[in-house]
Amino acid sequence: NLSDKLDKAFHILKGHGKITEVNVADTLKEVRRALLDADVNFKIAKDFTARVKDKAIGQDVLTTLQPGQLLVKLVKDELTELMGGDVAGINLQGSPTVILMSGLQGSGKTTFSGKLANYLKTKKNKKPLLVACDIYRPAAINQLHVVGQQIGVDVYSEPDNKNPVVIAENAIAFAKANGMNVVIVDTAGRLAVDQEMMDEIARVHNAIKPQETLFVVDSMTGQDAVNTAKAFNDILNFDGVILTKLDGDTRGGAALSIKSVVNKPIKFVGTGEKMDAIDVFYPDRMAERILGMGDVVSLVERAQEQFNEEEARKLQKKIAKNEFGFDDFLAQIQQVKKMGNMKDLVGMIPGASKAMKDVQIEDDAFKHIEAIIYSMTPAERKKPALIDVKRKNRIAKGSGTKVEQVNQLMKQFDQMSKMMKMMQGPGGKNLMKMMGG
Ligand code: GDP
Ligand code: MG
Repeated sequence: NLSDKLDKAFHILKGHGKITEVNVADTLKEVRRALLDADVNFKIAKDFTARVKDKAIGQDVLTTLQPGQLLVKLVKDELTELMGGDVAGINLQGSPTVILMSGLQGSGKTTFSGKLANYLKTKKNKKPLLVACDIYRPAAINQLHVVGQQIGVDVYSEPDNKNPVVIAENAIAFAKANGMNVVIVDTAGRLAVDQEMMDEIARVHNAIKPQETLFVVDSMTGQDAVNTAKAFNDILNFDGVILTKLDGDTRGGAALSIKSVVNKPIKFVGTGEKMDAIDVFYPDRMAERILGMGDVVSLVERAQEQFNEEEARKLQKKIAKNEFGFDDFLAQIQQVKKMGNMKDLVGMIPGASKAMKDVQIEDDAFKHIEAIIYSMTPAERKKPALIDVKRKNRIAKGSGTKVEQVNQLMKQFDQMSKMMKMMQGPGGKNLMKMMGG
């Protein structure tokens, strides 16, 4: 699926210390292929990767994390943007609020009408009325009644009336007379876009002037979904999109393309046949879902917050001048700690919590190290070479540790200082990566 493919794409970047034009291009070529495979429109996929590339090239990678993860974040942000950025609410003005469903037959209009009524009733404290305007199939009217009964919402229908405009108008009058404040009009769809259907929905739309005209689309229909959306939008200029059947391993392509083709927000998603299988559409969560990356994004963001460039530069200078001491070391540990405890951090990496299931992670892995450093005098911290056997004994006693532990830390610190000097490339870009590793 799309997630696996993107996963593979990001693997290309693994092991590269720096985002360069070459490895970004390779990765993004894979990203583009993955998007195309998921039915994302060719031009959209191409524009998308071009934008990510522009942003990625020349990024300073001053974090402890892999540059690949920074690219994941860029891709995620861009995906979120592509799907509408912010959450789009539903307009509940008007008394009553009139909501019109549109879409092809089988897209899930009737099911979603019920879900929305149930959502507004239970979550928004509304009193909805469902209206059966699918006049072609008696079974369709019946279906809406069954749905209404399930959720305890009234259903308005006129089985002998063949004019959906009149039915819809009568229903609104009925709602006003009976204290219902939301009217959800379910309509008839055809198997494909056709003129008669478009004329009919346009007439209903003109007559009842809904606050919300929603276009319901089956997310499994891929590229076709985009074309259908365009046809309906041309006629209705609808307010939002409902993406149904997003359960199972449905590809995410439709969600990616629709927004940019019709420039209308996706408002809800349907994730099953039951009446409670409805979710508000969150662009960022959808992007994460498509990328299948757990909470990597927030991990990257936290790392970026904590490791500010200014401090990193100061540190590089100190290392260059052999002035890196235990105080600096302590500051680094505290920064890593600020990101959260080790268990939380590991949990945010997809797959890691599973892999680390049997590994004991000390919640406060740095406790001993901190205690030892705190027991050093300022002079010792600044110039670790001062610490002789006598001082080591004092420090161990003061910190409640063993001399071996002090020795171990001294050795680690020594190795690290050497390594840092070595790894400090021309721009020192690798430094921060190592500090948290
Ligand atoms: P309509 O012709 O547009 O009114 O579509 P329906 O509401 O009758 O739905 C068509 C079929 O899709 C029905 O079998 C529904 O149970 C099913 N369906 C609708 N929404 C979803 C969904 O979100 N997930 C799944 N799995 N099935 C859905
Ligand atoms: Mg229906």
